Amino acid sequence: MKIIMLGAPGAGKGTQAKKIAEKFGIPHISTGDIFRANIKEGTELGKKAKAFMDKGELVPDELTCDLVMDRISSDDCKNGFILDGFPRTIPQAEALSKALSAKGEKMDYAVDIEVNDEAIVERMGGRRACAVCGATFHLVNIPPKVEGHCDSCGGPLILRDDDKPETVRKRLEVYHDQTQPLIAYYEKEGILKQVDGMLPMEEVFNKIVQLTGE
Ligand code: AMP
Repeated sequence: MKIIMLGAPGAGKGTQAKKIAEKFGIPHISTGDIFRANIKEGTELGKKAKAFMDKGELVPDELTCDLVMDRISSDDCKNGFILDGFPRTIPQAEALSKALSAKGEKMDYAVDIEVNDEAIVERMGGRRACAVCGATFHLVNIPPKVEGHCDSCGGPLILRDDDKPETVRKRLEVYHDQTQPLIAYYEKEGILKQVDGMLPMEEVFNKIVQLTGE
């Protein structure tokens, strides 16, 4: 099973992708997480990516595509994988499709989680991330067990730079401009599935499971 998660930043892609990965026993590949890990480790890639991420812009395709193609050719991706945050541009989608078709493969589903902009701004203002392990919470929807501390590692919870209101607005602009066209792209490919992301988290998950025919 090879799935792409589409949707605006804050639509719930990451939360759903983790649950789906667990259910189907496939790796969850988040380009945002890969970039953040590189930033934390202080790698060259991390330094380059941070400059774009902090401004709410996309990391250039040439820094993103090879990274994903390498990752999906690992052994643990043999039975499938779920992509969260990739592709985000038409050239990225074309690079993915080209790399897979060279192996006689293709993506099975592109799941688009639909949430309106107003709800996104509200959601992201309440999002908190662990400064140590990166786990995400929400002040209202997914509160940590102990206020201000991560459930997994106890680290302090912070508002990520890219979740700050001015950056969120920029990220939404970038989403509409560069990523939303992927909905039509995957519809044309015949693999698009749309889910109402305003529904409760558990219902969104059940719908995705139904849509993917499992
Ligand atoms: P995310 O955690 O998926 O919301 O990603 C956080 C940030 O990482 C984005 O706002 C982009 O700056 C960058 N990023 C993640 N995935 C991609 C991608 N596929 N292409 C370009 N930039 C990306």
